[in-house]
Amino acid sequence: MKQVISLKDLQERLREGKDVGALPPDIIMTPSARDFLNELRANGNLKAKVVPGSSPVTGGKPPQAPGRPMTSKNSKAELEAFFHSAYCENLKKEICGIGRRLWERAYVDGNGGNIAIRVGEDLALCTPTLVSKGFMKPDDMCLVDFEGNQLCGQKKRTSEILMHLQMMKRQPRHLASVHCHPPYATGFAVAGVQPPTCMVPEFEVFASVAVAPYRTPGTPEMGKLVADLVDKHNVILMANHGVVSWSHLGVEDAYFKMEILEAYCRTILVASQLGRPVQTMNPAQLQDLLKIKQGLGIPDPRYGLKECELCDNDEWRPGVTCAVTPPGAREVPPDPEAEAAVQIITDQIMAKLKG
Ligand SMILES: [Zn+2]
Repeated sequence: MKQVISLKDLQERLREGKDVGALPPDIIMTPSARDFLNELRANGNLKAKVVPGSSPVTGGKPPQAPGRPMTSKNSKAELEAFFHSAYCENLKKEICGIGRRLWERAYVDGNGGNIAIRVGEDLALCTPTLVSKGFMKPDDMCLVDFEGNQLCGQKKRTSEILMHLQMMKRQPRHLASVHCHPPYATGFAVAGVQPPTCMVPEFEVFASVAVAPYRTPGTPEMGKLVADLVDKHNVILMANHGVVSWSHLGVEDAYFKMEILEAYCRTILVASQLGRPVQTMNPAQLQDLLKIKQGLGIPDPRYGLKECELCDNDEWRPGVTCAVTPPGAREVPPDPEAEAAVQIITDQIMAKLKG
């Protein structure tokens, strides 16, 4: 019996780095496989090694992006070959892994949340709609152009892709983004409260948070409001909705921003319930952290601000204030009597709370 070669078989051969121009003569090819082959032949791309992104995984290193970035203008066959290349397959697996971590940490609910990675000049890989982020398979992923048109993939792309794409278009360093609904951070987004600053170094170094007003999820209006903030912030709380983070390093780094934000929101909620004024680091200490942050290439709207403006937490309800000594008051020593009185009152309150 003659061997039947389908489009999937050809894509598989390309992925394995095999030459699809040297197929045995006594085979039957499906019509879509024949079209695919003809298109590759017309473009001189029969050899796997010249198909963008199709280099097989070597030495445990992640497969590299094609030397010349792919665009939505590439032919359908080239885009399909790219979508099934070792480079994209590796990223698809990475997206599934991050989806699993989001679900296991209860950062997503139902089919909520979505992930996108820039893979070409105007191309992105993204998660499908209507699939739990904890149970995605690499074959569920989609390839879209920067207008949100789906180019490859069997499942339909996420309805919130426009937001990710608008972020990518606005911020050239944006490589990957993660959107989810982690309960503590989303609680802040629902209350419309920007998380206070100057409390935990990890948060100060890796996250720069802003709040975007509410619009219907998935609409261009929502995407624009988020995109307006990506210049100076890498984590955006969307009022009454959730959070989106982006990274210039990759999808895992974008996900780490989410872990850092959620742990931080949880920590300061606990701290604010302990009956003592929350302690903040001083502006000079924050300045040190901002230097590290700038060295890591992470944006922050506070670069270049005066020290006294660095820890402004006026809007944070539990009464956290900037730990800056007003000018002229620096030399005045603390009044030991007043301090003792404050301590007695604090102790009494704490004793009452414990009782
Ligand atoms: Zn959402």
